[in-house]
Amino acid sequence: MTMHRSRRNFLRLAGGVALAAPFACSRDGRAHAGRVVVIGGGAGGAIAARMLSRFGGGLDITLVEPKTLYTTCFFSNRYVGGVQDFESITHGYDRLAEDPGVRVLRQAAAAIDPEARTVTLSGGETVGWDRLVVAPGIDFRWDAIEGYGPEATKIMPHAWRAGAQSRLLRAQLEAMEDGGTFLIAPPEEPYRCPSGPYERVSLVAHYFSHAKPKSKIVILDAKSEFPLQAQFEEGWANHYPGMIEMIPADFSGGPRAVDPSTMTVMSEDSEFKVAVANIIPPQLAGKVARDAGLADGSGWCPVNQESFESAIIPGVYVIGDAAIASPMPKAGYAANLQAKLCVRAIVGEMTGKTVAAPVIGGACWSHITPRQAVREYAEYEYSDGAIRRTALDISPTGEDDNQRAVTAGEADRWYRDITHEMFG
Ligand SMILES: Cc1cc2nc3c(=O)[nH]c(=O)nc-3n(C[C@H](O)[C@H](O)[C@H](O)COP(=O)(O)OP(=O)(O)OC[C@H]3O[C@@H](n4cnc5c(N)ncnc54)[C@H](O)[C@@H]3O)c2cc1C
Repeated sequence: MTMHRSRRNFLRLAGGVALAAPFACSRDGRAHAGRVVVIGGGAGGAIAARMLSRFGGGLDITLVEPKTLYTTCFFSNRYVGGVQDFESITHGYDRLAEDPGVRVLRQAAAAIDPEARTVTLSGGETVGWDRLVVAPGIDFRWDAIEGYGPEATKIMPHAWRAGAQSRLLRAQLEAMEDGGTFLIAPPEEPYRCPSGPYERVSLVAHYFSHAKPKSKIVILDAKSEFPLQAQFEEGWANHYPGMIEMIPADFSGGPRAVDPSTMTVMSEDSEFKVAVANIIPPQLAGKVARDAGLADGSGWCPVNQESFESAIIPGVYVIGDAAIASPMPKAGYAANLQAKLCVRAIVGEMTGKTVAAPVIGGACWSHITPRQAVREYAEYEYSDGAIRRTALDISPTGEDDNQRAVTAGEADRWYRDITHEMFG
């Protein structure tokens, strides 16, 4: 670590000129202002690549992302609940790949070498960088729930990374007989999208209410309380009375083990035999970030919350769910803001240009019915490398249906805007 710091100090002492690399050549042989590699083309990484192109003026930008299509986790509960089709939450990288200075490599990053400043790709090739942005999202703690590992997800999906897992869960719900039980097991915090499991409960309940009205939903929670609990519980009582049973951790001890061969989920003292089980394990930063030594003992990556530069490896920036950005939630809107903050810092360092600070605020939206939503809006400020929340505005209980419909309309606009910013 000392060595990284002294290397950076040397480069900074050089006034950024060395890093601005006016003498360096890009892939096409033209001079460029420096190389930035972005690992992961999701809510954080796609925006970082695009903003580097827009504000970086001549930076050589490489986005490393193995998928050709990205399915958003946001609004994936609407797909799971049968409200939207899969295509409407799936986007391609074609437009992003046309941004000036950007190339998209359809490979995974296998390893990061902070000393040599290279990324080794799954195909074996290495790519050099002057600055590295790491945005791989989450991985799962496979040792947390006995019997629940990658193999078990084929029978009991987590659907917490959108794509094939979301399709599997939707197919299971469609195939389920009326009168069956759907069990969802949300994890302890911190995890991706704190209110997401409960929005999923709402939209599956909506599906059951018209397609399988005798069915039940059990929430076997690893927590004793959950975000927007009063709003959700009020909505469930109003729209899906008698369908949803919440079993908090202080009552059950939370999910302890599963047996996919018998579709059984166990808590400390109970067994649940269910038709469909959605197990969402506890989480940690994506593997490539952990393997590079960017995570601390918590499994997440500490950063300077003003620039999102790693607190462990200088010159490397970690954004999105992998970063410790609390009090910001692990949410798409937060990943988007963090990408803009880190681009501002990188462009400033590498080119000397000043990029205006983004407005540090945004909302998480949760649907209680397909056309009624609640929101949790927060504003933040930062100083001395730490973010603080300065405002919080949560949809109150008792709101009328019209206001909830207005909020659902805001959520639609947010989805359209954020995906346009990423892929449009
Ligand atoms: C059900 C659900 C609902 C949600 N709803 C909302 C919502 O309404 N609003 C909201 O703001 N947020 C919501 N979220 C949260 C949001 O999806 C995440 O916070 C956001 O996607 C995090 O962005 P990210 O860039 O960190 O990770 P991701 O968006 O997951 O992107 C990570 C990318 O990195 C790639 N990758 C991983 N490893 C490598 C590697 N080694 N090499 C190269 N690429 C790699 C992956 O393929 C992926 O494309 C929801 C999440 C869920 C699960």
